Amino acid sequence: MGQLRYIYHPGYDFARGVPFVKQVHGFVLGKPSLIRRHLIEMGAARSGDFERPDPIAEKALSAIHSSEVMLGLRNSKAVAAAGELPSLAILPNALVRHALVKPQVRACGGTAQALAYAADGDWVFHLSGGFHHARPCLSHGFCLVNDVAWAVHALRASGVRRRILVLDLDLHQGDGNAAFFKDDEEVFTASLHQEDTFPIPKVPSDLDRGLSGAVDDHEYSRALDDLLSDISERVSPEIVIYVAGTDPYCDDAIGSFALSAEGLGARDERVANFTKRLGGGLVALPAGGYSTESPRISAQGFATMAEIHRTH
Ligand SMILES: [Zn+2]
Repeated sequence: MGQLRYIYHPGYDFARGVPFVKQVHGFVLGKPSLIRRHLIEMGAARSGDFERPDPIAEKALSAIHSSEVMLGLRNSKAVAAAGELPSLAILPNALVRHALVKPQVRACGGTAQALAYAADGDWVFHLSGGFHHARPCLSHGFCLVNDVAWAVHALRASGVRRRILVLDLDLHQGDGNAAFFKDDEEVFTASLHQEDTFPIPKVPSDLDRGLSGAVDDHEYSRALDDLLSDISERVSPEIVIYVAGTDPYCDDAIGSFALSAEGLGARDERVANFTKRLGGGLVALPAGGYSTESPRISAQGFATMAEIHRTH
């Protein structure tokens, strides 16, 4: 049984120390630090448990992204549009890079570090990442660069290969991950999401389940059980990368789903038990969530999964 790990950096928070930045959809910009605080308050982790990721050079990401994406990171208007933070468009690029580009680039390093540990069987809770909309040639949907694609690239560059499941339970379909791993025999992408919302059109994952309307806890858990059972029939992954967005929550500002906090907890419990049965590593990423409750729900989910790792 591998170890339990947490990866976090204070520089993960978006717009840290940058005044007048408003996120139009209600994303909590300081979410990584809030998740950390909740985990400590819940007794799931101590302050010394959070490992800092090694920094990565932004230009290294050109190994997975087009030159348009890389150039866009140096353009305030492009970052503001892709990051859905219109107030950034008029700010000097240095400030914009500090507010959004550097936190996402740093998180790419964190997800890569998490995946390297997971390749040895560890369960790693990364307090940022899950930028699942960033495609090879497109930054959009709040996602400038794709941390999961970078992590898989970095793992392989280190000479390690694993069968990986990207399990995406964010409200939004993971079009970026689907695009990156479309023809990849070792990475299986599966997504359970709201069908009639961003991204439209979607890029098909290996397995997609789209639902519509006010999906409640019961309907959701039935759909998730079906999805997990279909995954089991098709692949036997050694690592689960779990894109654990909290935007299926009932009070979310964007989504139509109506899951309770308990329903989201039950979702994370199912994923933990599923991963445990596979017997391999886990990388859990917070991804989206547009409610003030989102950091607490993410922390509760991570704590629940950590408990399953420890005790069952
Ligand atoms: Zn989302």
